[in-house]
Amino acid sequence: MSALTRTFTLLLPLTMLATAQVPNFAQLKKMRARFARAEMRVDAARLPDGDRKALVKLIQAGRLMNEIYMRQVWSANPATYAKAQSNLSALGRERMLYYWINKAPWSELDGYTAFLPGVPARKPAGGSFYPADMSREEFEGWLQSLPREQQVQATGFFTVIRRDTAGKLTIVPYHKEYGAELQKAAQFLKEASALTGNESLKRFLTLRADAFLSDDYYASDVAWMDLDAPLDVTIGPYETYTDELLGYKAAYEAYLCLRDEAETARLKYFADHMQEIEDHLPIEAKYRNPKLGAAAPIRVVNEIIATGDGAHGVRTAAFNLPNDEHVIREKGSKRVMLKNVQEAKFHLILEPVSQRVLAPAAQSDLSFDAFFTHILAHEMTHGIGPHQVTDGGKVSTPRQELKDLYGAIEEAKADVCGLFMLQHLLDKSLLRDSAVNERNLYTTYLASAFRSLRFGSADAHGKGMAIQVRYLMEKGAFRAAGNGTFSVDSARMKGAIRDLAHDLLTVEAAGDYASAQAMMEGARVLPPEFQKTLEQLKDIPIDLEPEFVTATSLARSNWSAARPGSASPKKTPPRATRK
Ligand code: ZN
Repeated sequence: MSALTRTFTLLLPLTMLATAQVPNFAQLKKMRARFARAEMRVDAARLPDGDRKALVKLIQAGRLMNEIYMRQVWSANPATYAKAQSNLSALGRERMLYYWINKAPWSELDGYTAFLPGVPARKPAGGSFYPADMSREEFEGWLQSLPREQQVQATGFFTVIRRDTAGKLTIVPYHKEYGAELQKAAQFLKEASALTGNESLKRFLTLRADAFLSDDYYASDVAWMDLDAPLDVTIGPYETYTDELLGYKAAYEAYLCLRDEAETARLKYFADHMQEIEDHLPIEAKYRNPKLGAAAPIRVVNEIIATGDGAHGVRTAAFNLPNDEHVIREKGSKRVMLKNVQEAKFHLILEPVSQRVLAPAAQSDLSFDAFFTHILAHEMTHGIGPHQVTDGGKVSTPRQELKDLYGAIEEAKADVCGLFMLQHLLDKSLLRDSAVNERNLYTTYLASAFRSLRFGSADAHGKGMAIQVRYLMEKGAFRAAGNGTFSVDSARMKGAIRDLAHDLLTVEAAGDYASAQAMMEGARVLPPEFQKTLEQLKDIPIDLEPEFVTATSLARSNWSAARPGSASPKKTPPRATRK
């Protein structure tokens, strides 16, 4: 699989490594330089005193998500990282730093190939969610043999699959598998809950602590939906991208953030238009949801720290949670946009990329407003479109039916339906208060496509973007000037976006695995002009390596306060040892 999916990753010499070789010091330094350093500095001083104290506890809980996540990626990951940290040579240090960026000994930007000797050549597709020797066929055969209730557990978010002493597959709940870490994390959440004065945060933290110990996340997911606090907290097992084998299992992560009050108010406006967008989606009317849940909440926040699944490789700029279809049907989902992360990406990456990929006349159409608004629209459209597949009486979900392809299809759907939504609002003159117009929207999206493709083919967003680029080039909506630059044909763009949205939404509504596979297969090789320009962007950073300066200083000041006289703690977390 890796040979196929690596087709359009950056062709740095190091991606061509034979499995027996790993990058040397100079190569590794170059690999790490693809992540531009960005300080995540947030003004926590304006938080109420109780919230500031709670935040210190939450940072400790959040760091435990790093530990669980690393184990989920690979059972030997924690021990391998500990060993990597003990190597103090220049090469050893470089490996340790790059390890921390990837949270694993495989380079995400290079199709998850190994950069450390003595580890498997590629990241295990099923992480440690399944026995290392279990195939998809074995799982599916076993699944058929189970009673319905156990089938639900086996394919559920919060269980791992193990072998019993007889070698038979068996189901183990997360709260048993990760019991030691989850008990500590639950304790920190309870302490934080006692410190904050915000009732909705108190409630979420208490219920989430309980969920860590029971794997019943429903009540705390609902409380997270209702969370409305200056200190915005997301912590738990959420996204299933780490499970590349079957796409069922959730990886642990945390985002501890400060709410951006002004932006949140401004963007709530869009939420009021979601039913209208759903009603106009370019899909057969029977697939539309005539009554979306109550207006889904939107938060614009600034990130203090992200951990676990939220802190490896290409960094999250926005997310849409929860993923539990049951909660989504009843409560909708909430969008959280990490504004300081998005701003850093725009300035450090998209600006230099645009200078090379956009035709000179299009340069002035690059706009942070358009960039930010499209990401917002992307997140909002995750919440609309088909969330149920009704197939001959059997009720299922697009996620369950599209399995490993769901991530890429859903990301492409959100990109394309996001553009469809903004075009619809522009046509109705409903974007008057914003600086977004057709020209800067599509031109910024074009430049941004190059940015996404540079994430590599291991990433669901990168795969999703490859589908879009192939389609839009074919339809003449993206045009190559022949000198390596590109521009948008606005007239063709509108129709092409509408048609592609139709195709993606229909694949999801029908749970059509075969068509999804055909789309992925067709996008495996990029149009040659695109590929050529993409290869000329190698020296521009691909993404960020955030330095959580506010979190580090808060955690450190707390440590010093707790142990008078010990200004420099002996055992510092990995981030604190970095220069
Ligand atoms: Zn998305």
